[in-house]
Amino acid sequence: MTETDASTASLRAEVRDWLEDSWDPELSVDEWWRLVAEAGWTAPHFSVEQGGRGLERRAEAVVRSTFASFGALRPPGGLGLLMAAPTVLTHGTTEQIDRLVSPILTGQAAWCQLFSEPGAGSDLAGVTTRAERDGDRWIVNGQKVWSSMAMGSDRGMLVARTDLGLPKHEGLSWFAFDMDQPGVTVRPLREMTGQAVFNEVFLDDAVCQAADLIGSPGDGWRITQTTLFFERTGIGAGGAHSAFPGPGTAGGMLGLRAGDAAKWEPPVSKLTLGYDDVVRLARAHGCNTDPHVRQDLARLYTFSRTGSWNALRGKAEAERGTGGTVANVGKISQTRIVKTAAHLAADILGADAMLSGADGVDGGVYSEAVVFSPASSIYGGTDEIQRNIISERVLGMPREPNPDKGKPYGEVLRGRAAGRPGDA
Ligand SMILES: Cc1cc2nc3c(=O)[nH]c(=O)nc-3n(C[C@H](O)[C@H](O)[C@H](O)COP(=O)(O)OP(=O)(O)OC[C@H]3O[C@@H](n4cnc5c(N)ncnc54)[C@H](O)[C@@H]3O)c2cc1C
Repeated sequence: MTETDASTASLRAEVRDWLEDSWDPELSVDEWWRLVAEAGWTAPHFSVEQGGRGLERRAEAVVRSTFASFGALRPPGGLGLLMAAPTVLTHGTTEQIDRLVSPILTGQAAWCQLFSEPGAGSDLAGVTTRAERDGDRWIVNGQKVWSSMAMGSDRGMLVARTDLGLPKHEGLSWFAFDMDQPGVTVRPLREMTGQAVFNEVFLDDAVCQAADLIGSPGDGWRITQTTLFFERTGIGAGGAHSAFPGPGTAGGMLGLRAGDAAKWEPPVSKLTLGYDDVVRLARAHGCNTDPHVRQDLARLYTFSRTGSWNALRGKAEAERGTGGTVANVGKISQTRIVKTAAHLAADILGADAMLSGADGVDGGVYSEAVVFSPASSIYGGTDEIQRNIISERVLGMPREPNPDKGKPYGEVLRGRAAGRPGDA
């Protein structure tokens, strides 16, 4: 047994002992998640002072799978845990950490990411949503798009432009934005999976309290890099480990009986498949001895292990404060994992992979994963953008020319509106 296997087995045993003593299906989800957070199981990879148990990054997946195999409701997941909590822990004040991170760990608050706009996706620093200071609050106007799970979110990680007089990357700020207010309109967008996870978010004179600005005005781009780093390293480890169960007051789970909520957990993670899911599927369909399937499984295993190691390297970089490009490599490796797993599942199922919903195998989770898989090379920054970053920052290749560099962004936008010579 390797050292890693031994430490995983010992962690599983520790979690099982705790569950033997603590799991009570009669508790409400709210009560159960508070107990889980108090014991540090929601984010075991956070330090003890931050509400975790100071374990390695991979401990989170081990803990969650042990909860599931025991039959207990897993700790709350979601984008708050994946991205907002580590961002606030890195850049927030003690008051902000106490107020914003603890509701994420206890599952009281669900977060969405309000970054992309109709004209600013890959070019994220080009956001034009404005936040203007008005006494002890900020007034926000603009539009966000592709905001996953914004419909059920209590807060948003908002990047907005607070100073048009500064160059593009310098006039941005990062807010812990309250979604439950009159100036916010959330409209769902239907995807080819049939679900409406995405949303458009319209912000019309929405209000953000000054206390919810993370860092200083103009610090937004630096803080956004932290959020993206945790997004890329999180998903680089192999997928949506924290997508279920959904937290938050609007998510509707808090008042349920924990034992009932535990039974609803999907048999495999929704939307993205991992190595274990596909092995289980191959066994169930009797093709785990097929040499072609085994070859592809070996490839998927290799990608998955490399992805996990990259995530560990990313965490080590973050701890050293060197935040390098491992996250970008990890993001590309995640695309390979998600696409390879989905294609392999489709190969194993044959024509049955085309059946969705109740007609499909295991409620259509595999067909859903197949149609979702193209998204993996887009979310968290497209693969092309990751390659650009790696080529410029690691390989030292020349940067793309940028004639707007150093100009106040308001001037750049006015230039665009007026149309430059040569613009179509
Ligand atoms: C499943 C999913 C969930 C998402 N969730 C969220 C969310 O919760 N919050 C949020 O804010 N956003 C979210 N997004 C949006 C995502 O971040 C953007 O879609 C992504 O950044 C790309 O931006 P875009 O769609 O505007 O494409 P564009 O930026 O318009 O890019 C179009 C194409 O051009 C390529 N391209 C663009 N610029 C370059 C360049 N300089 N060099 C080479 N190629 C280039 C891109 O790679 C891409 O292939 C999500 C997307 C998906 C698919």
